[in-house]
Amino acid sequence: MIPFVLYCAMFSNVIGQQKIITQLLSFEQQSKTPHALMISGQSGRGGLAIAISFAQYLLCTNKNERTSCGECSSCQKSHQLIHPDLHFSFPVVKYGKKKRDATFSDDFIKDWRKIVLDRPYFSYSAWLDHIEASEKQGDINVTECNEISKKLALKSFAGGKKILILWLPEYLGQNANRLLKLIEEPPEGTHLIFVTQQEEALLKTITSRFQIIKIPPIDEKALSEALVAEFEIDYDDAKRLSQVTEGNYLEAKTLVSGANEDTIDLIIKWLRICYQQNSAQLLDWTENFGNYPKEQQKQLLSYTLFILREFIKLTCLGSEQISLNKQEFEKLKGLANVLTLDKAEEIASIINESMYSIQRNANVRILMMADSLTIGRVLRRKNEVSII
Ligand SMILES: [Zn+2]
Repeated sequence: MIPFVLYCAMFSNVIGQQKIITQLLSFEQQSKTPHALMISGQSGRGGLAIAISFAQYLLCTNKNERTSCGECSSCQKSHQLIHPDLHFSFPVVKYGKKKRDATFSDDFIKDWRKIVLDRPYFSYSAWLDHIEASEKQGDINVTECNEISKKLALKSFAGGKKILILWLPEYLGQNANRLLKLIEEPPEGTHLIFVTQQEEALLKTITSRFQIIKIPPIDEKALSEALVAEFEIDYDDAKRLSQVTEGNYLEAKTLVSGANEDTIDLIIKWLRICYQQNSAQLLDWTENFGNYPKEQQKQLLSYTLFILREFIKLTCLGSEQISLNKQEFEKLKGLANVLTLDKAEEIASIINESMYSIQRNANVRILMMADSLTIGRVLRRKNEVSII
């Protein structure tokens, strides 16, 4: 029996997901690795991390059936994301002075390597923040599709396999049709690995040509251990976060970084300003909020949603069922005179809509001002007595 630590050495960037890793390794052991593989699942479950680790495994020149060697020149290049036979495509925006039509993914390859090497768990909006394009809409354009076909038509540099990892095919839109032939009949020794977070948004003509691997939630133990190691929190707190986020590393990370005194205070301050409907303070708050990077805006709203959901659980199921820590619980009590179950549900639905609009590049200041006024009206409405 090969020790577990050796078994997962190549996949050490992946949190948990042993079943998926075993499945992928078994493809290669049986020489049945599909030429078109789609890894599908929420961003916080590790699709990209799995795709990259598997690509490194496929390219290793000295691998055994459970792990790559980690030492051959191929492994060393893969490890730094500079292997000439490992290509990446991902959504981008216009690069510098280039026209958008002339821009392709490789223009941003240095930024891509940096964010991936830092940790291959990030969302689409975190990527746009990273390339300072949070106000824009990224996509994978026709130029990039042509570039992909060109790259993959070349012979392999190292004489082995060629791999393309395409992150977020949902941003190909109709351009995906330009890749149909390539997906149908990839050049000899070529593997296409698409990593999607929204499989349902893809054209059926595309998905039907792929072998699809669905990524489940990260198992509780693996995620809890990863959170303890990264954030130095108690195991019980980490376990609580694993459960609350249903095995999603990114959401858990948001809650760890969100669950500090400043954030909960910021949310309570916002709800109070909404309630008081003080225009000057509201303007000030929305202006500040508008200055945050988009990812931080989403984190703050997502944390507010978590707090509201917990409030709803507390009201319906009692204090034993909630995942709030003591500090959050105490702070939330301060809202008891204005917040009720109905109101919490209504506000949660407004915030859900806001998050969707922010993702779609709405004007954040106008959006938050309008939402704050609506939330204020909800809070001021005469209502039943709160349970807290
Ligand atoms: Zn190797």
